[in-house]
Amino acid sequence: MINRWNALMRSGLTISNSYIVGRNALSTGHPIEEEPMAFTYPRSQHVRRYGPRGHRAYQSYKPWLRDEFDFRCVYCLWRERWCADGDQMFSVDHLWPRMTHPERLCDYDNLVYACCQCNALKQEAPPVLDPCEEALGHHLEIHTDGSVRALTEHGAKQIALCRLNRPRLREARRMMMELFSMLAASRSEEAAPSFVGCGAFLTTYRAWRP
Ligand SMILES: [Zn+2]
Repeated sequence: MINRWNALMRSGLTISNSYIVGRNALSTGHPIEEEPMAFTYPRSQHVRRYGPRGHRAYQSYKPWLRDEFDFRCVYCLWRERWCADGDQMFSVDHLWPRMTHPERLCDYDNLVYACCQCNALKQEAPPVLDPCEEALGHHLEIHTDGSVRALTEHGAKQIALCRLNRPRLREARRMMMELFSMLAASRSEEAAPSFVGCGAFLTTYRAWRP
């Protein structure tokens, strides 16, 4: 709970109770899931923790979405932490496009957190995989060469839609996994924070927060 509050506070968010729906109120807290690898798609569908309402600009929901989706792109799994410009490289993505579903423009349940590149590539396409409806880990998996492999037909469509195997992203993933492997092997408690700022969490990543 403390971590969540700290993360929200650092994002500059001013929380008003009037924007928080009871089912996901911040005050209820929630468990932080462990992640065995840096690039592991969720093996269960995402259950939203927050339910803010009332903003007229969808961008106003970005602070909640950052925390909601663990500060990473729901599609390619790249994290804010690994971008020099942090959240400036991430955006609010509409599952159901703005053009075809204007009534859902500011509907929090229609919003996810995505890197700007994935968001731009999707354009106005309808959702293939909604991370709140489907466990993306049942459709997609990332291999040590940095590639994303489809486990289902929907997974293949998602890869095509967001070009999840775009060459530079694939190579960046491979390099990041190689770096993690080296750091884990070195067992250096000093090197880890200086490279990735993750302290002693090389194996779980559960405490990674910007
Ligand atoms: Zn992405």
